[in-house]
Amino acid sequence: MPDKSEARIYLSSPHMGGEELLYVKEAFDTNWVAPLGPHVEAFETECAAYAGVRSALALSSGTAAALLASRLLGLGDGDVFFCSSLTFVASLAPLVQSGAKPVLIDSEPDSWNMSPYALKEAFDDAKQSGAAPKAVMLVNLYGQPCDMDELIPMCLSHGVPVIEDAAESMGSLYRGRTTGSFGRFGFYSFNGNKIITTSGGGMLLSDDEEAIVKARFLSTQARDKVPWYQHSELGYNFRMSNVLAGIGRAQMKLLEKRIEQRRAVYRRYHEALSGKPGVAFMPEPDWSRSNRWLTTMTIDPAAAGTTNMSVIEALEAQNIESRPVWKPMHLQPVFEGTRFYGHRGLDISGALFKNGLCLPSGSNLTTEDQDRVIEVLSMKLSG
Ligand SMILES: *Cc1c(COP(=O)(O)O)cnc(C)c1O
Repeated sequence: MPDKSEARIYLSSPHMGGEELLYVKEAFDTNWVAPLGPHVEAFETECAAYAGVRSALALSSGTAAALLASRLLGLGDGDVFFCSSLTFVASLAPLVQSGAKPVLIDSEPDSWNMSPYALKEAFDDAKQSGAAPKAVMLVNLYGQPCDMDELIPMCLSHGVPVIEDAAESMGSLYRGRTTGSFGRFGFYSFNGNKIITTSGGGMLLSDDEEAIVKARFLSTQARDKVPWYQHSELGYNFRMSNVLAGIGRAQMKLLEKRIEQRRAVYRRYHEALSGKPGVAFMPEPDWSRSNRWLTTMTIDPAAAGTTNMSVIEALEAQNIESRPVWKPMHLQPVFEGTRFYGHRGLDISGALFKNGLCLPSGSNLTTEDQDRVIEVLSMKLSG
């Protein structure tokens, strides 16, 4: 019988620090409940400074940020863009919904992120066929940065701007520089499961201050600068509220602590399980510091004597939430028939999905709870 008597352990749940309420109270006390307000502006300034970019725009979601970035790059009907295949659908859904066509790029084994080999092949083919992409969407998966020095110069040499999906990687570093700052545009997500949260929200980042001014205009219904409501183009209602920005400001102060806590969770899993046959953790190449948003591993059934799905079931029986690795976009029904470039003729992202597992990784996971998770894993992985 499944033992569900113990409290549920979640994959990644919101972790408030306490000061959030003070910021929310301030919004209430000053009646800056809506629209916008001082917390929004301050949160933007703080995020831009943190990311090391000139300008930032607080939005209702990371998905909204991805859409605005693609709109600012002029991506529309029939335009091609390259995108990491191993990601969450929100990296590309808004672009596809605006009529753009994805070409999906495999992962490399060293970082699980976009393979420079596969990207080069895609660029070579695009050059031959004359169908150059209009943008490249680079995703920093589970907090691990991409190999920027390999990928970014390649995009720039083809004159193609990069959008950096840093939704999962806030605070992660590539050669000491924060993710979100590498592309023409970058974005964070503050969804409830991310490393810090505003309950829901996103932040668009760029060094291009004019582009952020334009994004701000588009995100508030694209009103012309006249006293009446006049529109020369169509926008969106995508702004973050002042109440939620208050939560974000308090969460920002905790970010470094949250990264340390997530990394500690990873270290404990690694210590307890890395010696088991058939087990491999998501690598962290020495050019990076991952925020270890989620601890992820692969289980090779031949060596481990069990499968990722069997472990997920065993954890669920103990009321513990875990998940397979993202199902890559080239294997999604909705993207059937979409062009996919594998890494050196392989399908690395497909293999990671087949054997991959995400473990409970919240910064609020207690050592007692983590011991419960490790106990189940140890039993399943004993052979
Ligand atoms: C969460 C996430 C998004 C979307 O962010 P929302 O704020 O939920 O819209 C985009 N890309 C990746 C990789 C994500 O994990």
